Amino acid sequence: MLTGCGKSDDVLVVGTNASFPPFEYVGGVSGDEIKGFDIDLARQIAKDAGKTLKVENMKFDSLIVALNAGKVDLIASGMTITAERQASVNFSDPYYEATQVVLVNRDNTSIKSVDDLKGKHIAVQLGSTGDIMAKSYSQEVTAFNTGFEAIMELKNAKVDLVLFDSEPAASFLDKNPGLKMVELDFDPEFYGFAVTKEKVELLHSINSTLTTMKHNGEYDALVAKHMK
Ligand code: GLN
Repeated sequence: MLTGCGKSDDVLVVGTNASFPPFEYVGGVSGDEIKGFDIDLARQIAKDAGKTLKVENMKFDSLIVALNAGKVDLIASGMTITAERQASVNFSDPYYEATQVVLVNRDNTSIKSVDDLKGKHIAVQLGSTGDIMAKSYSQEVTAFNTGFEAIMELKNAKVDLVLFDSEPAASFLDKNPGLKMVELDFDPEFYGFAVTKEKVELLHSINSTLTTMKHNGEYDALVAKHMK
């Protein structure tokens, strides 16, 4: 059944930025399928709500705007629950604990503590928690639409380091042996699915799917499938 705005009632539209492996990335045999941990969770959320999942890939920085404009029903994009974002959206229960890490070129030994970030040229993903944090350490911060582009800049030695979430950083490291990860004393971050303030029922449904999946082993199975 179609509603007035042309969106089907039996489709759950999830907004994501598919450049954040293993949570969301473009891959598969066809090379244009969006896959990942978040997408598998979102598929179960849709199934439990009696809907089929449709994935909309967009810039990370556009996700909350798209949500509040009604273009997507929820955000599943490794999005950290922050007080600032909670002012404009509601988050589900936390579903994954992460942290920021530093990526540098393999021969760089200059970063040993958070203090060493001061004044460094840092590349980040636009609008990410890494972006916000980097600005608290340095005035020289360059933001890119994807973490991948930030890492390219590091490989080309145009920046000193990349500040990025731990799991995608590890995933990019696999393909870039010239880089290494430095783990510093950063606070943990918790990822949540975001919905508009109005969609209280959907929020309950997401939380109930998460609770069920944590109890029946499906959540752990997805961790085993996607994380190293
Ligand atoms: N967890 C980070 C944030 O919420 C980065 C998420 C992402 O780039 N997909 O800002």
